Formats: sequence, structure tokens, C-alpha cells
Amino acid sequence: MQDKITQFDWAVIGAGPAGIAAVGKLIDNQVKPEKIAWFDPEFRVGDFGSKWRKVPSNTKVSLFNRFLTASDAFNYTNCPEKFALHNLNPDKTCELKFMADPLQWVTAQLQKQVHWQAGLVKHLKLNHKHWEISLADQKLSAKNVILATGAEPKTLSFPAVQTIPLEMAFDPDHLAQNCSKEDTVAVFGSSHSAILIIRNLLENCSLKKVINFYQSPLRYAVYMDDWILFDDTGLKGTTADWAREHIDGTLPPRLHRVLSSSENLQEYLPNCTKAVYAVGFQKRLISIEGFNDLSYDDKTGIIAPGLFGLGIAFPEGKIDRLGNLEYRVGLWKFMDYLTTAMPLWLKYPA
Ligand SMILES: Cc1cc2nc3c(=O)[nH]c(=O)nc-3n(C[C@H](O)[C@H](O)[C@H](O)COP(=O)(O)OP(=O)(O)OC[C@H]3O[C@@H](n4cnc5c(N)ncnc54)[C@H](O)[C@@H]3O)c2cc1C
Repeated sequence: MQDKITQFDWAVIGAGPAGIAAVGKLIDNQVKPEKIAWFDPEFRVGDFGSKWRKVPSNTKVSLFNRFLTASDAFNYTNCPEKFALHNLNPDKTCELKFMADPLQWVTAQLQKQVHWQAGLVKHLKLNHKHWEISLADQKLSAKNVILATGAEPKTLSFPAVQTIPLEMAFDPDHLAQNCSKEDTVAVFGSSHSAILIIRNLLENCSLKKVINFYQSPLRYAVYMDDWILFDDTGLKGTTADWAREHIDGTLPPRLHRVLSSSENLQEYLPNCTKAVYAVGFQKRLISIEGFNDLSYDDKTGIIAPGLFGLGIAFPEGKIDRLGNLEYRVGLWKFMDYLTTAMPLWLKYPA
């Protein structure tokens, strides 16, 4: 006889910042916590809490504080822990670890309320208006599913050059140990990540040279009275300050910047011993029966009836007041988006 499959009203897949926000807001919206299932292999605040801890934030401490108190279910106003975040200047940026630690505490508060299970969801299938959720050795079902599954760094393929994975390039100690005086390191990209890594390499490593292959000029966030131009794509904080001085100002002697054209690749790449690809992120895939890809409506997060996306993999697309389309990625933005998206999700079951 087949085992009876446990049924939930909602399943949240992923326990990074987006999954945390989704679980909190479901409870705030009167979904019974015992009717929520939550899946993640580790419950360590996703990539934010495990891979990016040493990255300086591009958002201010005040926005992290706002995230932590935006859901009653987080119970953060009663948090007895004295996290270092509480003592930081709200108007400054900080290393992401300062936010990851409070988020780990919030994760534990939510785990006390909902059904959580450590594991990777392998497959989803719609079956009689319920999503069948398959893990390695178990099946559950939920009427609605939120994918908060995060994104992977994109890479380029230049096999002759040894790749430094992005998460290691963000770690100054790792770079210092793994680069030598003989190394010329290629850094691809001109985003916040690329500039951080160039800075890490130049300030922490005794290498020969850094060659930055870029495709477009640097872009800086511009703080207007009540809005920010290039809020999601522009350089911010200490990274912007450093770039203004050292990239758009005077290039450090060991930094060479070239357009990423085929001629320049042919000329400069053979001199490089290592490469870092800071060229963006792509959503993590999950197998769903009958779906070719995971395209979604970027105004609502709807993928299909009863199936929704949130977080860096499914960001909200928003037109700024000058008509530029930007994808809103960041903790506070995920939370803010839920204010409009979740009431729609609650009315859009499978
Ligand atoms: C370098 C960098 C710096 C950033 N700096 C900031 C910043 O300063 N401020 C800010 O607000 N934002 C910042 N962000 C943006 C964003 O907040 C982070 O990318 C954040 O990690 C995204 O959260 P997420 O929950 O969408 O994804 P993740 O943190 O990646 O979490 C996704 C989780 O889902 C799990 N998962 C995936 N597939 C499955 C599956 N099939 N089954 C079960 N679990 C699964 C993963 O294991 C992971 O734990 C930064 C991003 C990067 C990359």
C-alpha cells in the first residue's frame, strides 16, 4: 500500500533571506504555521549566510534593521541576543556576516513554528491541484509553493586559465593564500562584485598584475532627495568610494583595464594565470514536470497558479521614475515586494 502523502497549504523552498521573508509573511497573513512546510539543505541563511559573509554590503545597516522587524512572526523585537549589528551605525554599510547572524536567529524562531525539513527538493509536479514535492527519499504535497531557491554565479569558459570561484575571491584571506608573486589575475566584469574583488586582489595579494576585462563604464548609484537613480545596478558605499578614486581616478600601478573584446582577449588573456568571473548570476534550476524553464511575471512573482518565485532568482522588475527597468535585489526589497505580491499569491491557488 502506498504511504499517505503529508499535505500542507504552503511550501517554501529555500531558507536564504527570501525564504525567511516568505515564511514570516505567510504567518503574518494568517496562514497557520503548522500548515507551512519549509525546505533547505542546511538552514544557514542561504548563500547570504554561507558564501557572502565577508562581502561588504551595498545597503545600509538601517535597511537590515528594517527587514528584521518587518514581520511579527520573526519576533525580533523580543530577541535577547546582543548582535554586533545593533551597535553599528545605521547610516553605514557593513560586512554581510553582521546581518547573517541575526537572520540565523530568526530562522530558528520560524523553525519552532513551521514544519521544516533539511533536504534538497528534487522535483515538483502538479497533481490534482496540489504540488507534489519530491525529496531524495520522501514525497509531500502543498497547495501552493514559493521558490526562494537563489542564484548561481555565471561563469565564462577559458580553460587555459585557472578559475578562482567567486565565493573565494570575496575572501581576502583565501586570495592571499592562493595568489603568488608570479600570478596575473584576470577579473571579468565591472559590477559591485568585480570592483570588490579587484580591490581585494590589489590590497591583499602579492601578485604581478590584475587585468580587468570590462564591457561598460562603471555605474554609480545617485542619491536624490526621495529616490535613488541606479539603485540596483549602481556602485554604492565604500566600493563606490574606492572605484571613484582608483578606477575612474588614478589606476593603481598593478591594475590594467581593457574592454572585453575578442582582440583584447587574444592579446591579454594568455598572460593571465588565474581568472575570476564576476559577470552576474543565474537562477538555480529545479525540475518541474511540464515546465521548460522557470519564467515568471516580474511584477507579481507568479510562475504558475499556486507557484511563485521570490528572491535573487525571481526579482521584481520595476521602472524607475526616469523609465529605466531595474531588477530589485536586496533583503529589504524582497520584503517590500511581498507587501504587494503576497496578497495576490493568497488569491491565486493551483
Ligand atoms: C556578493 C553579493 C553581495 C550582496 N550584498 C547584498 C547587500 O549588501 N544587501 C542586500 O540586501 N542584498 C545583497 N545581496 C543580494 C541578496 O540579498 C543575496 O544574493 C541573497 O543571498 C539572496 O537571497 P535568496 O534567499 O534569494 O537566495 P540564497 O541566499 O542563495 O538562498 C537560497 C537557498 O535556497 C536553497 N535551495 C536552492 N535550491 C533548493 C532546492 N531545490 N531545495 C531546497 N533548497 C534549495 C539554497 O541551498 C539556499 O540555501 C548580495 C548578493 C551577492 C551575490
